[in-house]
Amino acid sequence: MKCCECKAEEAVILTTNKEVFCLDCYKQIVYNSLRKQNEFVYPEEITILEGKIKHVFSIVHSFNEEGFLWSCSEKDGFYEVQYLASIEDSFENAYLGFIEKLVDTVYTKTVKKTFMSKTWNVFKSELADVQMAETGQISIHEDDLGHIFFVIDGQAYSPEQLADLLAPYKGKTMQYQISSPTVDVIKEDEKLIKAKK
Ligand SMILES: [Zn+2]
Repeated sequence: MKCCECKAEEAVILTTNKEVFCLDCYKQIVYNSLRKQNEFVYPEEITILEGKIKHVFSIVHSFNEEGFLWSCSEKDGFYEVQYLASIEDSFENAYLGFIEKLVDTVYTKTVKKTFMSKTWNVFKSELADVQMAETGQISIHEDDLGHIFFVIDGQAYSPEQLADLLAPYKGKTMQYQISSPTVDVIKEDEKLIKAKK
């Protein structure tokens, strides 16, 4: 679906008014409505479009000594996104930084399709065509029974399924870093490990 404003870019945001925008046009719409009304009222719900898939998020906002904390959870899925903006930031810039992170989160994939895996995982057909990217993010969750599970790209995985996703890398080392949910999304071409000089 194309953005209803520029009619060129693919739409990534569906508003509660049923309008669809690319990220740039959505930012412009927020600034324009601010200019007209002199105050910005953020929506309680926003939908991120990923092709035909709709990720519906309910938005919560709070304010503390660290800044503006925006957070949202996917209504019928496992995505959870948090964004901390500085107190010096304007309210609408903080909101738009949060929306940008929401789009980044949905559009940056940690689980990749692969054609290699059937050779290592012939007995596990449900995971046979996927593996973890070399860099990415995994959220750690606990279910109602106190069991740990993982969320990757908005999907829940058991510890065993996570192990299967990592199986193509056997023999390698995984270096990792535990972070607050408010950190930026790590992109495909970014590395945690510095190259040796
Ligand atoms: Zn647009």
